[in-house]
Amino acid sequence: MSLFDKFGRQITDLRISVTDRCNFRCVYCRSADPENYREHDQILSWGELERLARILVGLGIRKVRITGGEPLVRDGVEKFVSSLKGIGVQDLSMTTNGHLLAERCERLIAAGLRRINISLDSLDPIKFEKITRTRSYDAVMRGIDAAQATRLAPVKINAVLVRGFNENEVEAFAAFARERGVIMRFIEFMPLDADRHWSRELMVPAAEVHQRIHAQWPLEQIPHDKSETARKYRFADGAPGEIGLIAPVTQAFCGHCSRIRLTADGKLRTCLFSKEDRDLRALLRSSASDQEIEDLVRAVVNEKEEGHRINEPGFVPPSRTMVFIGG
Ligand code: SAM
Repeated sequence: MSLFDKFGRQITDLRISVTDRCNFRCVYCRSADPENYREHDQILSWGELERLARILVGLGIRKVRITGGEPLVRDGVEKFVSSLKGIGVQDLSMTTNGHLLAERCERLIAAGLRRINISLDSLDPIKFEKITRTRSYDAVMRGIDAAQATRLAPVKINAVLVRGFNENEVEAFAAFARERGVIMRFIEFMPLDADRHWSRELMVPAAEVHQRIHAQWPLEQIPHDKSETARKYRFADGAPGEIGLIAPVTQAFCGHCSRIRLTADGKLRTCLFSKEDRDLRALLRSSASDQEIEDLVRAVVNEKEEGHRINEPGFVPPSRTMVFIGG
């Protein structure tokens, strides 16, 4: 069975946020203020998540990314990885800030994880602290080293560039990719931060990043699937490592989007920028049959937005910020 929206896009990718809690407070994502985390009973249980995942895989989902909040702060995530493997998810990955990764890496691999994305927004410990509002630089570096030493290599490193914070590190990040053989991905800052500080001026366009790296180390484009978020490049001089540019703002890829998202509290979102999301938790807890859940998912997916409209006049950011969606 397959899931299509009314524009003919096939939906094959699911991002599952397993918690809204996080041990970091990155400036471009969370507020510095204490946050209202959802009560535990408002978050889907592992059993509920597993049931939904099974239904969605039955509808043609092939790729699942576990995210949050910070997925590694929720106990039992390894068991969830293993249950997703058992359901038959073909491509299973996780996005993490890496703080708890070093000690969890082997267990995650044993559970069936095969790919990992680690967020790293600065190579300077002082700046890292300013951005994440934590002193976890060394722990994250240990997490990256641990993952690189396993079959999770090459790991993908995600950096969100914010002008005035870390845009001067583009070349240093590219050097890091070459030295460590990692896939260094630059994500454009999106209007999803809790403090609503986003502005076009704070965002560093992917074209600028490309031009700066290319000037120092010429890049060659690597072919990519249309639905992939990143434009991928290798170094023309044959150095290890890769560069990925993710440009949701300046080069939107909505036309080929194959993604849907499940929030930790059980809302199905068809776009990061959806104005509304649909509640699956109530349905799950009302003893609905799998068929009823499937019917709702199909109806919601059918109405997936054509595009995110960030660049249209009168754009209003969604009321749910990244904290409550899961990246
Ligand atoms: N805690 C994990 C982590 O740090 O990777 C997973 C959740 S985090 C919300 C997932 C990804 O979303 C991270 O790579 C983060 O950098 C990105 N992100 C968060 N807020 C963003 C924003 N306003 N614009 C672009 N990317 C953002």
